[in-house]
Amino acid sequence: MPVQAAEMVIINARLPLTDGGGLFKLTIRDGKWRAVEPQAGPIGSEEHQPIAALGAGGLNAAGRIDLQGRVLLPGFVDVHMHLDKAYSLSRVRNRSGTLLEAIENYRSVIGEFSKETIRDRIVKAALRAASFGSAALRSHLDVPVHLGRGIAMRTIEAALEAKEKVSGVVDIQFFPMYYYDPGAERELTEFAFETLRMGVDGVGGAPHLTLDPAGGIDWAFRMATAFGRPIDLHIDESDDPNVKTIDVYCDYVIRNGYAGKATAGHLCSLSAMEHGEAERLMAKMAAAGVAAVTLPAVNLYLQGRGDRGNVRRGVTRVRELAAAGVPVAAASDNIQDPFHPFGRGDMVQIGLMTAYAAHLAREEDIAAVLRMLTHIPAEIAGLADYGISPGNPARFVVLDALSAEELFQELPATRWVYNKSRWTFASELSMRCTDPATARLAALS
Ligand SMILES: [Zn+2]
Repeated sequence: MPVQAAEMVIINARLPLTDGGGLFKLTIRDGKWRAVEPQAGPIGSEEHQPIAALGAGGLNAAGRIDLQGRVLLPGFVDVHMHLDKAYSLSRVRNRSGTLLEAIENYRSVIGEFSKETIRDRIVKAALRAASFGSAALRSHLDVPVHLGRGIAMRTIEAALEAKEKVSGVVDIQFFPMYYYDPGAERELTEFAFETLRMGVDGVGGAPHLTLDPAGGIDWAFRMATAFGRPIDLHIDESDDPNVKTIDVYCDYVIRNGYAGKATAGHLCSLSAMEHGEAERLMAKMAAAGVAAVTLPAVNLYLQGRGDRGNVRRGVTRVRELAAAGVPVAAASDNIQDPFHPFGRGDMVQIGLMTAYAAHLAREEDIAAVLRMLTHIPAEIAGLADYGISPGNPARFVVLDALSAEELFQELPATRWVYNKSRWTFASELSMRCTDPATARLAALS
């Protein structure tokens, strides 16, 4: 391991989310931001080495780095992923391209996946996401207890092992998707209690897909409140405007004092709904303190399949939710699995897709999109000390773009990633970090 500089000074860093987005001089000591100072203009300095000239080996030893005007963002927070299923597409196909076939096909083979297979998929997907600049991830987990407790527990164990394996590079939160079945409640409750004791971070689920959605929401809150954990449910991932479990969810959030600890992912039916009803629900979400997560890649792929002519696109009302006062994050959801054949855990890609799907491309919208990938999901994930401010841990990504707009115009492949008190990935290596067996080699050690 190269000797690491105790103090690092970065000049000519562009911070698009800080004070007008100018150039900054940044000081990091012992892995924490020490000073964040606006510059009057570009600084010329011979003692600072241009970042692009520093090879992977030189980064961690360098104490003075010149970004030459490149964009630096706090590490992305991808707050809704399915790491356990990532890269399963070659084993699990989806001929109809619908959500229901994806669920059925994955369930039909989940028993054949060993713990090691699932663990390696999580590690691979997490390291790839980290290489693109994500500092923290939240993943839902498929735990079909009705197919066998052992099968469900295998995914939990794989996840906790994977979390440990990548802990030096990226943080992961896990939210198992408990499928509520009133006929098997005792078994499910026992399983949920055990997994929450084992260290999963919160309660997940998809009540609109179960036989008793209201009962499932009630059960999920009983689990979450028993352990004082946050709750993050897949809500109304449906084209049907009459699917409105969000209404019941908000009631439970209010009743249990869960403002700021409750998240609703997807909200597709909200976009299909008549406007007045959607407005009522969005105002209710804002009042209840429910955060929203839009998953544009997967919803554009899965939703609206049955429509002819005016095809519903499934992406929720991003701008209107934000205008109503609901915190809205954007996230990856599925990566190269039967739910979504594309994707790579790259939040720049998700940001671009959100900009298109939600008509967010004015100058001020670009900063709003960047906040949906950084500060808002960090708040949803309850990350303390997030952001580029003195005293906070330094976790950031430098992108090869000279402005926030250029980020989405050029989609720079080049990233330099800093987290956990060191540079963890460098540009020429980031694209190669795809194989869990060699992933550690790609990470800067
Ligand atoms: Zn999901």
